[in-house]
Amino acid sequence: MSHRLAERSVDHVVLERGEVADSWRTKRWPGLRLLTPNWMLGVPGQPAGHTDPDGFMTAPDVAAFVRHYACRTAAPVRAQTAVQSVRRGRRGYEVRTTDGTWHANAVVLATGASSVPVVPACSAALAPSVAQLTAQDYRGPDSVADGGVLVVGASATGVQLAGELRRAGRPVTLAVGEHVRLPRSYRGRDVFWWLDATGVLAERYDEVDDLSRARRLPSPQLVGSSAPIDLAALAAEGVRLVGRLVAVDGGTARFSGSLRNVCALADLKMARFLDRADAWARHAGLDGDLPPPTRPERTPISERPCLALDLHGDGVRTVIWATGFRPDHSWLDLPVFDRSGRLRHDGGVVTDAPGVYALGLPMLRTRASTYIHGAAADTAALADRLLAHLGR
Ligand SMILES: Cc1cc2nc3c(=O)[nH]c(=O)nc-3n(C[C@H](O)[C@H](O)[C@H](O)COP(=O)(O)OP(=O)(O)OC[C@H]3O[C@@H](n4cnc5c(N)ncnc54)[C@H](O)[C@@H]3O)c2cc1C
Repeated sequence: MSHRLAERSVDHVVLERGEVADSWRTKRWPGLRLLTPNWMLGVPGQPAGHTDPDGFMTAPDVAAFVRHYACRTAAPVRAQTAVQSVRRGRRGYEVRTTDGTWHANAVVLATGASSVPVVPACSAALAPSVAQLTAQDYRGPDSVADGGVLVVGASATGVQLAGELRRAGRPVTLAVGEHVRLPRSYRGRDVFWWLDATGVLAERYDEVDDLSRARRLPSPQLVGSSAPIDLAALAAEGVRLVGRLVAVDGGTARFSGSLRNVCALADLKMARFLDRADAWARHAGLDGDLPPPTRPERTPISERPCLALDLHGDGVRTVIWATGFRPDHSWLDLPVFDRSGRLRHDGGVVTDAPGVYALGLPMLRTRASTYIHGAAADTAALADRLLAHLGR
């Protein structure tokens, strides 16, 4: 957004509580690989031009990429400046920070969708002898106490952590709730090529049937590698699959009996998407050029998955919560939240706060908004709205 504003000669400042790319430096585990391929990493004024377009960046690579972009575009960043409150001022907004107060005619909220890990209430009932970590605390298998690990949540983060810990020799149990299954590649092309080609990534927020659900959709079970990371692959590596964690009493974790159903549903939705991909390929006249369709096997789930686990007896010393994240807009002193505390906005134009815009939230304007890739189109649209607000 800073680049877009500079292009339009809008005087602005970027306030950052840490250093540039702070979330990629301090909130992601080093072994994380983006699930989006490098060819998607274009940003405004810097189209994707990676030497390895089909490769996947690690978290330190992304931090270096963002730092380089901030330098190249000479973004006016004030680092180590945390915003403590934003409220209406005499002219526009008054922004209080740890380093003084700013007055702004417009404010862009770009503090991320993943500031706070979401941890289920039942975590409070875990015995103190079991260590608890969130995905933000996790720094690799060596950062986890010796012994077995229960990973709760089987979306992009949970499956990556379960796989990494298992390959490090740990006994791993993975609690699986509702999830989105996609193959890494299909008919010789990466799944993101298909999501782009079929128009899924471009689907707009004001066109989907259930926007609230679309914004809460879990991240797909993918990892940045050509090796499969679906539940079948994890089970073959020795990860024990159980249902959604529903309760903890004392030293016993209890799981839902719905594991087979949630896996069957994820398989069904994946098959629907692959049908759509095949239909698109036929329509585009590419059927003959692409390898024939080979569908992933259905997820094999045992007839009787474990419903209760004695954590101590089973040697589980750590529970890792890979149960999602939420934004933190608690410093916004404006009437812009709905009853559940979510920011009210229309495609990034914040409701009831003229001149306030949001970026970097899931499905902000399109499905691509969930990814770094989506910022190019979102910032273009919102910079125009911001300019109109300034009367220019
Ligand atoms: C585990 C994980 C994996 C992901 N994998 C991918 C992927 O593979 N591909 C992809 O495209 N996207 C991925 N994403 C999504 C990606 O992180 C976001 O699309 C992207 O980071 C959004 O950038 P942002 O600048 O809006 O937010 P962030 O990168 O979160 O940056 C927000 C910044 O705001 C700062 N900040 C927060 N509060 C304040 C405050 N009060 N005052 C001042 N500064 C503040 C933070 O320090 C931070 O530097 C992933 C996200 C997570 C959590």
